[in-house]
Amino acid sequence: ASAGGPLLAVRSLTKLFGSFAACNGIDLEIQPGEIHALLGENGAGKSTLVKMLFGVLAPTSGEIVWKGEAVRIPSPGAARRLGIGMVFQHFSLFEALTVAENIALSLSPGISLSKVADEASRLSHLYGLPLDPKAHVADLSVGERQRIEIVRALLQNPELIILDEPTSVLTPQEADRLFETLDKLKAEGRSVLYISHRLEEVQRICDRATVLRHGKVTGACDPRKETPASLARMMVGSDVASV
Ligand code: ADP
Ligand code: MG
Repeated sequence: ASAGGPLLAVRSLTKLFGSFAACNGIDLEIQPGEIHALLGENGAGKSTLVKMLFGVLAPTSGEIVWKGEAVRIPSPGAARRLGIGMVFQHFSLFEALTVAENIALSLSPGISLSKVADEASRLSHLYGLPLDPKAHVADLSVGERQRIEIVRALLQNPELIILDEPTSVLTPQEADRLFETLDKLKAEGRSVLYISHRLEEVQRICDRATVLRHGKVTGACDPRKETPASLARMMVGSDVASV
């Protein structure tokens, strides 16, 4: 492990689907305790990149460096063991089961349901993500379902938590609540990789932004020091008309 270095570095990471490069030589560094945006239009390669970081997709080439050491991440379980948690764009929850049962399914067997429920309640209070462990998922809103996914990730005590377009399913009030949760994670020294195509929220909550376009990095910046127009240009190219 490297003292003072990035928590995660990605070097020349590429993912081909056939001959199509969804990610094409991506370089990226995430520091401890930062909220790092991955910004880009639909189809830019954001989800493909984070699926490689979470062991869902195997890279075609390139390197993932975790705390100074090159790692292979062959599965989500391997990612979790390293200290990476992820909240997907599309949730994988069992409607007929309760919140606690859903969370228990992703943990190692042998942990009692009441223990899972207690721990989920504790985390949901601590991070401002109200949840009733006994509620059935079928009765919950999409925002509440996302909270289950976040609590489930936090139960593994991740040093990096990845959220893929989390606000796309949230009301503005729920989004504000999520941003408070992310600030708390940051205050604890955890890192957040925050995927979005929404400039205003990236400028509001993120310390760094890496901008992707057509599978390539077109910019890395402090989003608060950019204008919306300059960020938009990195996202869509300089050929764009005035935005
Ligand atoms: P984003 O998350 O930025 O919207 P994605 O990473 O989902 O973008 O997709 C990037 C590009 O890769 C898109 O053109 C998409 O159609 C393509 N793509 C994603 N997954 C696959 C796949 N499994 N097979 C073929 N093409 C894919
Ligand atoms: Mg996506």
